[in-house]
Amino acid sequence: MPTMGALHKAHSGLIRIAREYAGQKGELAVSIFVNPLQFEPGSDYERYPRPEEQDEGFCRNAGVDLLFRPTSAEIYADDRSVFVEETTLSSTLEGKSRPGHFRGVCTVVAKLFNILSPDAAVFGEKDFQQLVIIRRMVRDLNFKIDIVAVPTIREGDGLACSSRNEYLNLEERKQAVVLRRALLAAAEKAKAGEKSAKAIVDLARKMIGEASLARIDYVDLVDAENLQPVEIVRPKSLLALAVFFGRTRLIDNILLA
Ligand code: AMP
Repeated sequence: MPTMGALHKAHSGLIRIAREYAGQKGELAVSIFVNPLQFEPGSDYERYPRPEEQDEGFCRNAGVDLLFRPTSAEIYADDRSVFVEETTLSSTLEGKSRPGHFRGVCTVVAKLFNILSPDAAVFGEKDFQQLVIIRRMVRDLNFKIDIVAVPTIREGDGLACSSRNEYLNLEERKQAVVLRRALLAAAEKAKAGEKSAKAIVDLARKMIGEASLARIDYVDLVDAENLQPVEIVRPKSLLALAVFFGRTRLIDNILLA
């Protein structure tokens, strides 16, 4: 189970599913690595939380068998020259907003797979595009690893759990619930028969726009399999968004029925 640490409730959920999947005799390894390669210049690499002792206790209490917490120098040679790059699914959503992000993700996940040789790996649907891209990498590069998807785990008020939530001040945290509300309202509209992607996206944008501290990066409707934009809502459409509250960028998504 690859993570960037600052472990929280959602990571516990993933650990539980990973443990179930591994079974009594299986061993569960968690990696913690804040991967410099997936942070674009000027993003939050330096300030990303790194509560090392707390994370270690968290893993111990959760019954993790192996905690793999390498340094950057252990993972990357100074003269590295080989990377793993997905070239189609990465062109939209996060990939469009964060150039190079998925090249960093694929490269580090491929390396972690090679180092730890797992039979299976768990990934969260909160990072939906990441999950789809990892599945594609596993298929296209013939990794013999099952990819297990875990539904998004949320706080009581609906905000998706994230290590980045701790950057939010009180007012930002209060307003951030609008993301889930907007996704649910848009999904309702689709369920009621609205077929126009623009109408669905406009509704979500309007609701988010009513939160004074929200600054939308994107709200897009894409096909959940190829992640390309759709104009007409169809089964397996994914509504995905990235929104800033102050300097904090949050993402979330919902699958439309
Ligand atoms: P991170 O430490 O944020 O890189 O996340 C490690 C793994 O946990 C990734 O597979 C994420 O998709 C997953 N994850 C993080 N937050 C959530 C959440 N709220 N619900 C489900 N999975 C999550």
